[in-house]
Amino acid sequence: AFKNRDASTTVSLTNGSLKKRVTVLVIGGGGREHALCYALERSPSCDAVFCAPGNSGIAQSGDATCIPDLDITNSDAVISFCRNWGVGLVVVGPEAPLVAGLANDLVKAGIPTFGPSAEAAALEGSKDFMKKLCDKYNIPTAEYQTFTNPAKAKQYIKDHGAPIVVKADGLAAGKGVVVAMTLDEAFAAIDVMLVEGSFGSAGSRVIIEEFLDGEEASFFALVDGETALPLESAQDHKRVGDGDVGPNTGGMGAYSPAPIMTEELKQKVMEAIILPTVKGMAAEGCKFIGVLYAGLMIEKKSGLPKLIEYNVRFGDPECQVLMMRLESDLAQVLLAACRGGLGKISLTWSPELATVVVMASEGYPGAYKNGTVIKNLDEAEQVSPAVKIFHAGTTLDRDGHFVAAGGRVLGVTAKGTDIEEARAKAYDALDVVDWPEGFYRHDIGWRALKHRHMVAH
Ligand code: AMP
Repeated sequence: AFKNRDASTTVSLTNGSLKKRVTVLVIGGGGREHALCYALERSPSCDAVFCAPGNSGIAQSGDATCIPDLDITNSDAVISFCRNWGVGLVVVGPEAPLVAGLANDLVKAGIPTFGPSAEAAALEGSKDFMKKLCDKYNIPTAEYQTFTNPAKAKQYIKDHGAPIVVKADGLAAGKGVVVAMTLDEAFAAIDVMLVEGSFGSAGSRVIIEEFLDGEEASFFALVDGETALPLESAQDHKRVGDGDVGPNTGGMGAYSPAPIMTEELKQKVMEAIILPTVKGMAAEGCKFIGVLYAGLMIEKKSGLPKLIEYNVRFGDPECQVLMMRLESDLAQVLLAACRGGLGKISLTWSPELATVVVMASEGYPGAYKNGTVIKNLDEAEQVSPAVKIFHAGTTLDRDGHFVAAGGRVLGVTAKGTDIEEARAKAYDALDVVDWPEGFYRHDIGWRALKHRHMVAH
């Protein structure tokens, strides 16, 4: 249905200058990737957007042409797709293909790729690697030590006392961190990770670190190997239930900006954490290109930010609110990141707030049923022009109805002049979605609301 394209098609932009337009391939198929496709599709310098594998909702929205059959675990297949379709920029959404080395292979094939090499992705993949980098380049983080021996680990815990934090070194699907309030909890975590080996090789090495007391915040920056460009702030909601109760999830909602991330704090994070990381990685011969997503603790006693963890990709669902607010040409910005040119870029953001409320299948993050029918999505999006629904896990049944295909299924997103308005629009749209087997949190943005009321009174 689409013609083969040449990556170097030249068109004249509104300012009269001649600029090359680029065909982009987004790797992934969740809400984050839908949001990236949405922003890329609106980029003046973007010619066409492909998404592999994508999902039915992304395809139907018209934000990208989805390629469900492209095997993204096979670098040769991705490279040959890029060559056939003249893809001039690949944007990798999730961490798994990065850790597997997809960006290494694409870059070697001469295809500009936004996302770190497997070696640089170790910032997320190995907490020990991240902590050693912090040591060497004086990046503020919790005091720690690494152990493989359970007896020595327990002795360290006894010496330091509780509360104390035990972490599996490798990726453990978000379950590898135990914030132990008592010694017994910390010993039990050592038994689970080092003695019983419940996390396999991800838990064969543990980090034991100082408990940091304060408020958590997230920070996002684009990185081009040499320098970093901060993004607007966003805050997610990890717990499944209203009032931040229940088990952790991939994220049940987000809003942007996050009032905790003041300009002053942003500057401190850039100077003390992000830039030393980017320079340190380059000095280690491991240049980082992609998104650095820092999980921070703003320590109560010092008011200073400390690094808890790095992710090497956009947060999902934080990406959805950031892309709703981004007004710059995303394709141009990400290409600049691939070429070491972020120093010349400044970003433009909508002054409006954005919020996203995730709709998930009943039972998530535990067992849930796929295939339940979701109706009225078009009607929900029509509640307001400020509403956009991103699809995280949907597919079409034989009758052409959207059905759920995953835990997190939709990201109902809205902009507004303040947090109340953005929330009201998102929840008005959610009222219209007809999906009895779906659920969502009713309090997304509560921290921003609380902050607003504190400022107002
Ligand atoms: P992580 O996967 O490293 O982000 O840890 C998951 C969660 O555990 C964080 O979001 C924090 O809530 C908490 N956490 C991690 N490290 C610490 C620490 N050193 N002190 C206090 N809480 C922590």
